[in-house]
Amino acid sequence: MNLIRTFKNYLQRKSIADQLLYGIMAAAVICVLFIGHYWTSLETRRFKKQSEEIRDRFVNSRMDVVRDEVTRAIGFINYNRSLSEERMRLGLKQRVDEAWAIASNIYEENRKTKSRSEIEKLIKDALRPIRFSNDRGEIFIYTTSGVSVLLPRNKHLENIPGLDYQDQHGNYVVRNEVELLRQVDQGFIHYYSPGKDNPEDSVLLKSSYIRRFAPFNWYLGSKDYLEDFESEMKERILEYLSKIRYGNDGYLFVNTIGGEALITNGVKHLWPQDIRKSNDSNWIEVYQKQVDIYNTTGSGFIEYQFRRLLSEDFETKISYLGTVKEWGWIVGTGFYENEIESFIRDNRKLMEAQIRSTIVHIVLSLLMVLIFIWLVSRWISRKLAQGFAIFNLHFRKTGLESIEMNQENLVFSEFRELAESVNAMTEELNNARKSLVKERSLLRSLIDSSPDFIFFKDLNSNFVGCNKAFADYIGIEESELIGRNDYDFFPKEAADKYHQFDRQIIEDHIPVRSEEWITFSDGSRRLMDTLKVLNFDSAGNPIGIVAISRDISEKEEIQQMYIKAKEKAEEADRLKTAFLANMSHEIRTPMNSIIGFSNLLTEEDLTPEDKAEFIRHINHGSETLLSLIDDIIDIAKIEAGQLMVTFEPYNLREMMDELYHTHAELLKRKGKEQVNLVLESEQLPGGDVILTDPFRLKQVMTNLLVNAVKFTEKGSITYGYKVSGDFLHFFVRDTGIGISPEGIKVIFERFRQDNRYGVKHQGGTGLGLAISRHIVQLLGGDISVSSSPGEGALFSFMIPYNAYTDIVSEKKRGRDSTFSMDWSSKTILVVEDMESHYNYIRSALMRTGLNMVRVSNGQESIECCLNDHQIDIVLMDVNLPDMDGYTATRKIKAHRPGIPVIAQTAYNLPGEENRSREAGCDAYISKPVKLKILLDVLGSFLDNKK
Ligand code: ADP
Repeated sequence: MNLIRTFKNYLQRKSIADQLLYGIMAAAVICVLFIGHYWTSLETRRFKKQSEEIRDRFVNSRMDVVRDEVTRAIGFINYNRSLSEERMRLGLKQRVDEAWAIASNIYEENRKTKSRSEIEKLIKDALRPIRFSNDRGEIFIYTTSGVSVLLPRNKHLENIPGLDYQDQHGNYVVRNEVELLRQVDQGFIHYYSPGKDNPEDSVLLKSSYIRRFAPFNWYLGSKDYLEDFESEMKERILEYLSKIRYGNDGYLFVNTIGGEALITNGVKHLWPQDIRKSNDSNWIEVYQKQVDIYNTTGSGFIEYQFRRLLSEDFETKISYLGTVKEWGWIVGTGFYENEIESFIRDNRKLMEAQIRSTIVHIVLSLLMVLIFIWLVSRWISRKLAQGFAIFNLHFRKTGLESIEMNQENLVFSEFRELAESVNAMTEELNNARKSLVKERSLLRSLIDSSPDFIFFKDLNSNFVGCNKAFADYIGIEESELIGRNDYDFFPKEAADKYHQFDRQIIEDHIPVRSEEWITFSDGSRRLMDTLKVLNFDSAGNPIGIVAISRDISEKEEIQQMYIKAKEKAEEADRLKTAFLANMSHEIRTPMNSIIGFSNLLTEEDLTPEDKAEFIRHINHGSETLLSLIDDIIDIAKIEAGQLMVTFEPYNLREMMDELYHTHAELLKRKGKEQVNLVLESEQLPGGDVILTDPFRLKQVMTNLLVNAVKFTEKGSITYGYKVSGDFLHFFVRDTGIGISPEGIKVIFERFRQDNRYGVKHQGGTGLGLAISRHIVQLLGGDISVSSSPGEGALFSFMIPYNAYTDIVSEKKRGRDSTFSMDWSSKTILVVEDMESHYNYIRSALMRTGLNMVRVSNGQESIECCLNDHQIDIVLMDVNLPDMDGYTATRKIKAHRPGIPVIAQTAYNLPGEENRSREAGCDAYISKPVKLKILLDVLGSFLDNKK
């Protein structure tokens, strides 16, 4: 494993070109080694096979040779053996014929001169010494009557009749010869030893040849034993066989079945050796194998270990054996199997030399091939390296910019194809990049345009990004946020909580949702609904946290509103019942009074005082009813948005005095004389006449005073007014039962009363204060109460103080100066969504003759300014429903820079005036708008602009 890893590491460090070069060279070497090994083993196998074949061929040919040699020797022996009988006969005949010729010659020579006996003696003497056939042969003479004449070796037996003579085999030899000569003059006589089983197997023992010698009635003869003849022949044959040589050193050996070694190693033994007594166990063993062949097949091969001549080592010898059964001979010759080995050894040396030379050739060729491969590979690897370098450079560049790849310097078609693919890929990458950038910017815009907070954290809860809303909320740039955490921006307690949420998400992989109130830099508190989820990479591993925080304050407000509305509806239902009961009471009480006293008036005996009293009651009831009906109508108008105020000059002091009289009277009528009614008023700087809606102002004061009378049993009721800056401050204070804290919250709402246990219900409809507050608001102010149960109540309200005398005097001055309040040729655009404020402005400006166009939102104001060129000036409320007045101003000024815009705002904050100037406003007045200031500011623009 380590080796593989090391090799792998080595490969990883090497370039493709190097790997290709070394790979090809290694492959070539391996190939050559493999081929060399294969070829060598093939050659060796071929050589082995060839050697085997040669060995086989050698063995076979040698076997053929030795078989032929033996067969030839056996043939020779048999041939000679088969001729022996004949030869023996011929020899006998030849010798006898020679002797007969000698005898005849002697007879012829001496017949006339010598006597028979002398001639007989001459013949006998001449023939007696004749010996032949190794001294075995002699010439004998018998008479034809069977008497011996010449017996050369047994002279003492001559002249003895021999007809009864029997040889050792019992043959009547002479008798047989005599018998033969009765029929012929010469001939052979053969004697056989009878065969044991078959007469045909009988063996010739001896032969005689006889020839009549007529002059003396003799016959001459000679005999020979075949055995004797043959042993002579054997000697000759052995002599011959021992001399036979063939091949390099081939020779014959001859042994007898009786164990005699006749010829050994090609040498004829003078004295045949008995193998069995030789004490040479190997020889005896070999001899035994020969005996087996003799006794079985008669001829065949045997294989054995034998010592070479003049050698001590045993070697494998294969011999062929033939047999001459008649003589009990085993004839054989053999060869040593390893005789071929030297030849094979020589061949092997030749072959090894050949292989060596071939290997040298192969190595040289391999060297050439390797050099060639090295050169080619080096060229290829250079080109590859060049190609890869081009790609490398290109890819590095492509990381930064999308450029097309130049194919000119690329050599291989694969590189060119690759380059085309790279270009195609680059183009796609480019497109993908563009669309990614687009998508990213779209996504960024989306994220940034979202009013929700969106931010991202890593797994350590450090910020990695956020949207604009969140950055604005934190008050820093996104880049400054990155890498920091909650503890850098939030109090420790809050940061701990956020951190805890983060840990929880990372551990559980479950999104966390939370709602909490947070405080913005402008001080506003908003309810945020925050969802935090895990962000995963493409492999599904968490890489961070994404959080979206949504402002659900409005939703919460609406929810709360719904809850309140529901409660209100329930309350309204309850109130309706109470209202109806109250209404019934409020109507019935005066109606009863009217009807009752009307009936009493019909009675006849009434005094004039009684009548006056009854009529007063009837009037009072009617007024009460009328007042009730007025209240109901006013409430209906308020609900329909139709309750208007109309400004006119009115003497405030007169109004206050009138109220005093009316309510002093009321106290009296109600039997509350003990309650002091006190008017507290101060001298107004601009005189008693003010510009207001006297009817509605009086209605408010009356409401407050009637309530004070109603709820005060003792003590005092103090009412009046005073100047407070630009405002008139009205109040009604009593020492009555007071109002509970719960009551304070609701009494200005329609139909609401302070219902307290233990306090006697005073009737009423709960409409008076609701109407009063609405009226005060229409007059440009607001109403409030401070009270606690049993401590009396103080109702107070403020309205802008518009002293009528200022306007009148300005008017008067105007006639003498250039200032004129006659703006009937001018048109003002009042941008105001609040009905009451518009009414106030309208009333205030009515007398100037100024034409008024009113719109109630920013968009309408812009459209109006652009379309209606009659507009001379704009009075712009800053707080509009669709956009703020400054935005609308900017847009108007962008198209009509010359048109004066006067901003009016209720936020009397520091820097507001600057903001208005920055937006392009020409002047700035704060709410509630004081009439004089309004006229001054308008005048400064309208009078200059003729
Ligand atoms: P009404 O008097 O017809 O019931 P209002 O709107 O005038 O209707 O008054 C509402 C309620 O406010 C009264 O019912 C009363 O409970 C309380 N209230 C008004 N003025 C006074 C006062 N001066 N002292 C005590 N309670 C007052």
